[in-house]
Amino acid sequence: MNCLFCKIIDREIPATIHYEDEDFLVFDDIAPKAPVHKLIIPKKHIHSLNKLSEDDLPLMAKAFTIAQNIAKQFGIDQSGYRLLNNCNADAGQTVFHIHFHLLGGHQLSDTLG
Ligand code: 5GP
Ligand code: ZN
Repeated sequence: MNCLFCKIIDREIPATIHYEDEDFLVFDDIAPKAPVHKLIIPKKHIHSLNKLSEDDLPLMAKAFTIAQNIAKQFGIDQSGYRLLNNCNADAGQTVFHIHFHLLGGHQLSDTLG
């Protein structure tokens, strides 16, 4: 499949990986928007939030536990962080493999819309 994140999962494209299990991968965003900017992605290729099915919900719930752990690992759990998903063009989704951005390490902008 011609998907950038699937290629990172398959190690066809290098990334700085911080966590991996049977369902998820966490790595540095190549163009960080904050001192800590990690991408949390399921190994299952899901095009966008629109394509998430009810069967995928237990899998996605796991993303929250991983986000908690990564935030702790990078020392931003107390200072604060943002977990976000972009869906389709108006949100600026550029990679169509569902993912969460984990951002923190400085005061984040208040522009959410
Ligand atoms: P989106 O805009 O789809 O929500 O987020 C895609 C993210 O993937 C962007 O923040 C972008 O910087 C990141 N990205 C794009 N290409 C690569 C890459 O080759 N490697 C890594 N690690 N991140 C990438
Ligand atoms: Zn993919």
